[in-house]
Amino acid sequence: MTNDLYLELKSLPGFVENEPMAKHTNFRIGGVARYYVVASTKEACIHAIEVAERAGIAWYVYGGGSNLLVADKGFDGLMIQVGFRSMEVNGEEIVCDAGVITALVARKAAEAGLAGFEWAAGVPGTIGGAIYGNAGCYGGEMKDAIVSVDAYRLSDRQCVTLTNAECGFGYRESHFKKDRHIIFGCTLRLVPGDAKASLQRIDEINAKRKEKQPLGESGAGCMFKNVEFADVSEIAQLQSEVDVPASMIASKTIGAGWLIDHAGLLGRRIGNIEVSPKHGNFLINHGGGTADEVAQLVSICQMEVRNRFGIRLQTEVQFVGW
Ligand SMILES: Cc1cc2nc3c(=O)[nH]c(=O)nc-3n(C[C@H](O)[C@H](O)[C@H](O)COP(=O)(O)OP(=O)(O)OC[C@H]3O[C@@H](n4cnc5c(N)ncnc54)[C@H](O)[C@@H]3O)c2cc1C
Repeated sequence: MTNDLYLELKSLPGFVENEPMAKHTNFRIGGVARYYVVASTKEACIHAIEVAERAGIAWYVYGGGSNLLVADKGFDGLMIQVGFRSMEVNGEEIVCDAGVITALVARKAAEAGLAGFEWAAGVPGTIGGAIYGNAGCYGGEMKDAIVSVDAYRLSDRQCVTLTNAECGFGYRESHFKKDRHIIFGCTLRLVPGDAKASLQRIDEINAKRKEKQPLGESGAGCMFKNVEFADVSEIAQLQSEVDVPASMIASKTIGAGWLIDHAGLLGRRIGNIEVSPKHGNFLINHGGGTADEVAQLVSICQMEVRNRFGIRLQTEVQFVGW
């Protein structure tokens, strides 16, 4: 990189070098980002990308860092955190920037007497990350609430507005995973409800989470996607080994945590990373754990579940810098 380009990079607002990504991920794992900025506007985000590209370095845009596993060697490029965070409730619609915290949107919606987004109150991270992975739980998903998404499309450098259908949402899937975009924000549409009932539903969901998941521990939420199947013949080996609950057969979905549990992996540990004894789909960093240890434990879970049940687990967490 020439000195001029380095000076241009260095002049980005909030620019820092060698920023430990462990500070910015829920896993509390990750080496340093060689360069790091928080983009406080959409224009600043596009500008940072342009500068990185002129300088010939890699860039990566993220939101809350709750679904990332950053390599121990870090990220050799410019890490850009989305820091635009305005939000407005207009009747039944909520217009919000990608950097708004998802749980805050859920709470504000409930307080405004809008129903249907209570499920999101316990999902860490930002709306941008939630759209990217079509986050969901307790019967709700981003796709149920999205009217449209505003984004910057990298292929032709255009600011675009995608309808819900154009977002290609599926189980932890979206168009944005296939065609690189920077998500700028979205419009959500909810239904008129009762503030008190919605706030109570949030409390109930949060209590359920606390009971079933190792909250308060460092991790990245569910490590693996649940397994969807079209026909029971695909789970024949699993059925020959264990009784599969009727609810899983009916929904044509096998919980990844359930598979890990039945493979006898709860509590399995590599270094400071452990398969949570409370929920098989959560890998926990007990402090000082490394990304490499997570990767080893991921491989063990995949191998044992495949060998025992003939099912291949796919990761839900995004790997950065590998
Ligand atoms: C304790 C815990 C519980 C969790 N529970 C759930 C749950 O119930 N349901 C669920 O679905 N998930 C859950 N997760 C996972 C995680 O919270 C969600 O995936 C969340 O929506 C990610 O948001 P984020 O802003 O942290 O994304 P990040 O981790 O910052 O990024 C994730 C991906 O999104 C991309 N991305 C983020 N922002 C943008 C943007 N503006 N434009 C383009 N790409 C972007 C990044 O490049 C990356 O590939 C949980 C995580 C934890 C730690």
